[in-house]
Amino acid sequence: MALIARRMRHLGTENAFRLGDDIQRCLDRGMDVIRFNLGAPDFRSAPHLNRVASDALDAGRSGYCDPAGILPFRQAIADHVRRTRGIDPGPERVVVTPGAKPPIGYTLQTYVNEGDEVVYPSPGFPIYESWVRFVGAVPVPLHLSDERDFAFNADDLAALVTERTRLIILCSPSNPTGGVLTRGELAGIAELIRERCRPDVRIYSDEIYEQILFDGLTHESIASHPGMEERTVIASGHSKGFAMTGWRLGWAVLPTVEEAAIFKRININIMSCVPPFLQEAGAAAYEDPASAPEVRRMVGEFEERRNWIVPALNAVPGMTCRTPKGAFYVFPDVSAMCAGLGVYEAHAALPEAARQRATPAGMLQMFLLYRYGVATMDRASFGRIGAEGQDFLRLSIANSMDDIRRGVARIAEAATDAPGFAEFCREEAAKGDEGLFP
Ligand code: PLP
Repeated sequence: MALIARRMRHLGTENAFRLGDDIQRCLDRGMDVIRFNLGAPDFRSAPHLNRVASDALDAGRSGYCDPAGILPFRQAIADHVRRTRGIDPGPERVVVTPGAKPPIGYTLQTYVNEGDEVVYPSPGFPIYESWVRFVGAVPVPLHLSDERDFAFNADDLAALVTERTRLIILCSPSNPTGGVLTRGELAGIAELIRERCRPDVRIYSDEIYEQILFDGLTHESIASHPGMEERTVIASGHSKGFAMTGWRLGWAVLPTVEEAAIFKRININIMSCVPPFLQEAGAAAYEDPASAPEVRRMVGEFEERRNWIVPALNAVPGMTCRTPKGAFYVFPDVSAMCAGLGVYEAHAALPEAARQRATPAGMLQMFLLYRYGVATMDRASFGRIGAEGQDFLRLSIANSMDDIRRGVARIAEAATDAPGFAEFCREEAAKGDEGLFP
């Protein structure tokens, strides 16, 4: 009998966390690493919110609480959803979760049986594909292309929806592309869903980047469209927009009270409740007028950095970078850089098993990290199925301008260092199973 249950074979991971070991190895070698890999704002949580949490702790509000979330926080979330999406779920349909990640797994466990089809964006947050496989569903990636600014429309979705579709995952603004679906695109998608999907098909709308939009855009949710509120699980939280990743504050709005009760039951089975003193600060994030200027300042800085880095990356030999409209990532196509550096030849020369595991963009990613001290994320980190031949890197701009400039200068230097790349590959191959591409 095997020690580990079979189902664990299917659980994926998030490379953003795994890359930490490689970065540490570089740091241990005395390298200075610029971390374009991070998916966390480089800002601190706001002092007025920190104070709410520490005051609540000092007042002794440190015990268990309602597993669905404390009522004032759920009310604040419901009010926020009403103001920003024009729908009124009330606190009864809100469940507080430790971050916006848990509702992904909750949704897959609640609605999806083995063999059901799940449509999800690719490139997209890797946890979607991980959970789809874990529950034994059929992954149906909706491939996004840079030529269309990583957006998609009803026709793209129509080609993937079948009788067996159970769940459709949307993410706007998107990680990793920064793509944003417009109100028009969402209206078309909503119409298609109304026409082609049974009422029990659910939409999972990941809106964790809802506050981080550029060029004066405002957030749009599929749930605001006719017939969608009753089919959509909206998920969001405080990690990105309020720079509170470590607080683990997230939430889901469910289509019905009964479905909210299931999410609450999953909370009870896994972690009982989110700490109540953190939830008090979570409510203040939506209610205290001091929050809006903090968010604006941060988003303004992200926009300035985006405005600098996109042309800078487009000036790097072999890189082509679209202008993201939201979130804090850029996602350049690096296929020409791979070609210039000889990455495709090096990839083709790997032994079969190693070639299956590695991707050209992944090899470039390791070269940039181990030789130039620049940590990025490769395309395969954001969904692998059907992504062969797509070579992109994700760079997070949640970094100081100084680091962004230094990082781009290093990438520009690396872009023409074909001899350095060849030597890097030779050295790794000589290490055999200990090398980076075993
Ligand atoms: N959804 C997307 C698209 C994300 O990018 C992330 C974090 O990177 C999450 C969900 C998870 O957010 P949290 O840290 O609040 O769990």
